[in-house]
Amino acid sequence: MKCLNCFFLYYKIKYQVYFLSQILLLLFWIVWIILALSWLPIAAAQKSPSPKPFPNPTFQAFSDFILSNFHSQISLTTTLLILFSLVNNPELLNLHARQTHPVFPDENLTRASGWMKTLARGLGDRLNYDLSTVLTQYTDKNWVTQLAKQLDSTTVFLGLSPYKYNGNFTRKISCISQESIAPIRLICPPNMTCTTSTCQLYHISLRTRLRDIPQVTLIEGSTVLNQVYVLSGECTRCKTHYHADHESYTPSNTTQSREVFINSARYLKIGSSLWVDRVFSNALLSGMYNFHASANAYTQFWNDSFGAVSIPCKLSRRQIWQAFVQESIRSIAQMSKIDFEANQNIAIDNVCNSLNKFG
Ligand SMILES: [Zn+2]
Repeated sequence: MKCLNCFFLYYKIKYQVYFLSQILLLLFWIVWIILALSWLPIAAAQKSPSPKPFPNPTFQAFSDFILSNFHSQISLTTTLLILFSLVNNPELLNLHARQTHPVFPDENLTRASGWMKTLARGLGDRLNYDLSTVLTQYTDKNWVTQLAKQLDSTTVFLGLSPYKYNGNFTRKISCISQESIAPIRLICPPNMTCTTSTCQLYHISLRTRLRDIPQVTLIEGSTVLNQVYVLSGECTRCKTHYHADHESYTPSNTTQSREVFINSARYLKIGSSLWVDRVFSNALLSGMYNFHASANAYTQFWNDSFGAVSIPCKLSRRQIWQAFVQESIRSIAQMSKIDFEANQNIAIDNVCNSLNKFG
């Protein structure tokens, strides 16, 4: 009997040890899977190339470099053309830089690589082959090589190379960020002077107080821009208010203000802090008509196609519908050669009703 108890005790302990080992094995796999998954986005993030900063020498150093390497009469336009042609061709910069850093015995160092000569030829073509104010010394036969060499010097000066000054390779250039030189954008009224006949082209004053200027998001085509300032103006004689997409005034003997929708507006307001350009709104109108798409379908299409290309931006169905109505108003009014007017702050459904009567 005692032996039988020992036998059961032995198997009980053996079973518990086996059970514990299985639990530990399961825990090990769970921890391993969690660690593996946690590494995935980190690995992906490490692989995603970060843009190279825009070259930032002092203006004095840049000016001295240009004057000592190019013709003293080179124009600002040509200088900027050369700068942006280099900055916008990162693949060409990589390919050229590799040829200026030979590794194998059968590789020769060449400052005028075929890659850079092609860019030089493209610049020559753009300048109608008039290089009299670009290069100091050149002939009809060697201008491509001469210009390619100067372009190579410019890439070295601006640090537009995947190699350090000592020749050590850093990393391939994926793209060169132009965020630091993005212009300040302001959405302003399109009219330069008051349009009321009695004011006789009186100037328009800034109505928005400097501390209250709103910052909005602007969609230009498919590009999303943040921190865009919106300004409105006022004629101090007749008190007409001027906005980027409409004008507002209060007729005499009434208290109800009226809005005049500007047919030639460059930008349309489609949300409390969202504006779009007419390329966006025209594409929307055309897309919805040609594809028989609903506002919901177009919203989904835009968000999937452009909502995360540069700056993340998700549009709502209401904003798409607003853009559709705003663009339709301008298109119909333009074709009818009239200016569409409505009470100020009219609801969008009432605008549609007015449009139906009018169309
Ligand atoms: Zn006026």
